[in-house]
Amino acid sequence: MVTAKARAVDGPKDSFRAAEIERRALDATDVLIEIKFAGICHSDIHTAHGEWGEVQYPLVPGHEIAGIVTEVGKDVKKYKVGDRVGVGCMVDSCGKCKNCQEGEEQYCLEGNIPTYAGVDKYGDYTQGGYSTHIVVTEDFVLKIPDNIPLDKAAPLLCAGITTYSPLNHWNAGPDKKVAVIGMGGLGHMAVKIAHAMGSEVTVLSQTLNKQEDGMKFGASEYYATSEKETFEKLAGKFDLIINTVSAKIDMNQYLSLLDLNGTLVNVGAPAEPLDINVFSLIPHRRSFAGSLIGGIRETQEMLDFCAEHDIAPQIEVISADDIDKAYDRVLKSDVKYRFVIDTSTI
Ligand code: NAP
Ligand code: ZN
Repeated sequence: MVTAKARAVDGPKDSFRAAEIERRALDATDVLIEIKFAGICHSDIHTAHGEWGEVQYPLVPGHEIAGIVTEVGKDVKKYKVGDRVGVGCMVDSCGKCKNCQEGEEQYCLEGNIPTYAGVDKYGDYTQGGYSTHIVVTEDFVLKIPDNIPLDKAAPLLCAGITTYSPLNHWNAGPDKKVAVIGMGGLGHMAVKIAHAMGSEVTVLSQTLNKQEDGMKFGASEYYATSEKETFEKLAGKFDLIINTVSAKIDMNQYLSLLDLNGTLVNVGAPAEPLDINVFSLIPHRRSFAGSLIGGIRETQEMLDFCAEHDIAPQIEVISADDIDKAYDRVLKSDVKYRFVIDTSTI
């Protein structure tokens, strides 16, 4: 067993505190990773605050993990000590069901094992990346390409794959007009990736405050959703819309921006149900869809795509003592564009 330092929270309204957690002794196919950086995803906040249902505390969130392999189990084939690696939102799955067999482990029919707030096959409660070490079976470990620094690699493991996967699945490309709702952690990655895929990208943000950044990330247009004219002007324009907003918004307004046969993919995950009027969909054969992270093979493909296209998130590296402050800022949409914890400060 390895005793890891961590930052944990004891209840939905509590602040983070220093903690120690035990990581299991290495099984034959396990890899021990010394975590260097861990991104802060809005899902960490939803979970830590108990918004998605009851969770077991103390909780160590974090599913955007980048680090170095420091030990490998005896049958590990893909990794060796010293390798630069990442871990995302899941650490295991059944491996046998049809979805796992197709490389869609996130949709495992038995349920994937989340990196934190889940129970693994050993019966242990999983604890995430706001920590110095983690043990993960090699099949759920990703290789970080050499030209992506570890601090910038961390957010790719959730924000990167969660936006790459639907853009890939719904064929973003030169013939597609793509809009991204919300330019936070996921949103800014969606802009960069869709642009690299060749699509014309429009950002739909609450205000124009981040317009300059959005254009730098690859958007060709940027609109404030607080202005009513935006919806009139853009009606029926887009083939694909990715909604990354963490709160409930008026989805019917956004569905009206889809062209015939267009699809709005919701990756944002507010706790409250969204209200959808079927007449926002029927008259234009529009689709409303959801998408969960991405499979392991696709996550590696995304990392290699980002390396090839020189894409990385814009981050603000913080000390572990500032996690609570970072949560407050994310909740105020005051994030440019991902907080990443330097785990040497844990
Ligand atoms: P984030 O950094 O907080 O970004 C969300 C953005 O949404 C904000 O920056 C803001 O953008 C906009 N926004 C926030 N509140 C709003 C409101 N009340 N009305 C309109 N716009 C609002 O969060 P994130 O880490 O990117 O995560 C976004 C959501 O995706 C979360 O719900 C998270 O749980 C979910 N998620 C889902 C998956 C999945 O697999 N489906 C994976 C990861 C995360 P502007 O300032 O530009 O308006
Ligand atoms: Zn996430």
